[in-house]
Amino acid sequence: MEKTIMLLARGGSVNEEIKRVAKIEGVSPEKLRERIADGRVVILRNIRKEKLKVVALGEGLSTKVNVNIGTSGTIIKPEMEIEKVKIAAKYGADAIMDLSIGGSIDKIREMVIEVAPNIPLGTVPTYQAWIEGVKRYGISMPDDWFLDIIEKQLKDGVDFMTIHAALTKDMAKKVVKSSRVMPIVSRGGAFLTAWMLENDKENPYRKHWDYLLELFAEYDAVISIGDALRPGAIADQHDEFQVGELIEAARLVRSAREKGVQTIVEGPGHMVLDQVVADIKFMKSLTGGAPYYVLGPLVTDIAMGYDHIAAAIGGAIAAAAGADFLCYLTPAEHLSLPNPEQVKEGLIAAKIAAHAGDLVKLGSKAAKKDLELSLFRTKLMWGKMFSYALDPEKAKRIYAQFGAQTQACNMCGQYCACLILEKYSKGRKEPNLNELIGRYEGSISKNFEL
Ligand code: SF4
Repeated sequence: MEKTIMLLARGGSVNEEIKRVAKIEGVSPEKLRERIADGRVVILRNIRKEKLKVVALGEGLSTKVNVNIGTSGTIIKPEMEIEKVKIAAKYGADAIMDLSIGGSIDKIREMVIEVAPNIPLGTVPTYQAWIEGVKRYGISMPDDWFLDIIEKQLKDGVDFMTIHAALTKDMAKKVVKSSRVMPIVSRGGAFLTAWMLENDKENPYRKHWDYLLELFAEYDAVISIGDALRPGAIADQHDEFQVGELIEAARLVRSAREKGVQTIVEGPGHMVLDQVVADIKFMKSLTGGAPYYVLGPLVTDIAMGYDHIAAAIGGAIAAAAGADFLCYLTPAEHLSLPNPEQVKEGLIAAKIAAHAGDLVKLGSKAAKKDLELSLFRTKLMWGKMFSYALDPEKAKRIYAQFGAQTQACNMCGQYCACLILEKYSKGRKEPNLNELIGRYEGSISKNFEL
């Protein structure tokens, strides 16, 4: 078996892949090697994949965004899911998770890989294990069945998987009888809990953790330690179950590192603003800086129809505080399987959140585009401005919605501040980009505290 990238880095090797990530992210290859070696940075990968672009997560790197797609139990339209994959690729998703639970799960995954072979693909293998396991064996499916599904998905080319190994049988028993508003909102967590309680057995991922590490090392794929007990309501934030599972996740991270297996940790969920920074800092400290993958966080429970905005507010703060990977939410969250347009809205909201966080976390390295755009905005250079938009078609459509009347836009028309001041500003020394970068760098605090 070849050495994993983590073990290679630990041995002092800076290979081509590490050099490529260093170039993309603008960091020193040696620093990056150190962070990969001790698990503070991971590269989403599966050595069976040939065309994969390098996407790295972790300390000192830009915040990445994941898009979930996949059939539901009731809406099974593989072609619509593929349309979502194309949207994710077009609007710049860094990773895609196929969370299909209806139809042929193998076939849909194959289609996703065919349409987007270069985008890292994630799954939650418990879904397939449960759905197909119940059909095949009933609810008493053997525990090694869960491992068979993982192995199959690794062979098929999945790059990272949510594994809910931090959930113990004891926690599962307690949480279902607890006074939490929502005992478990994780689908994979609910499947595993039902299996453990029905069969009175420990979580199969815990029982076979060492074997799982061997499997992931063989493919050099990434384990994303799932948070089955994430809060599904702000009233449940940071309770004994969420924190207890996170402590267990940290223990698993350490044991995976010993074997050279890359891990990331998943986080909430519903959480109010003032808790988000504390959550990120606590998790980073507990895990020795493992990359943190958060769902949102959703900073209010009442944003139905606009949960992508609630998630983007939390995501921006989380990214600024050090979260590394944002899972998007769509306007359909809590209501329905999203349609393709809602996938686009969710992705763009999450990308804005990630970038807003990076403006704090990475400083001027992330701000170049903002500073350039602002220079074009002062000069009303619309064509240039549109080239910076995350969705240029939408920006152009809105600009043109009442027809162009003046050189300015139709918000103020002839009373545009830029037009009025033009004659008085003649001869002023305009700032150049380098000056703006220096000014920006001096104006921000990267040690983000709410
Ligand atoms: S018209 Fe008003 S809103 Fe539009 S560019 Fe000028 S100042 Fe800005």
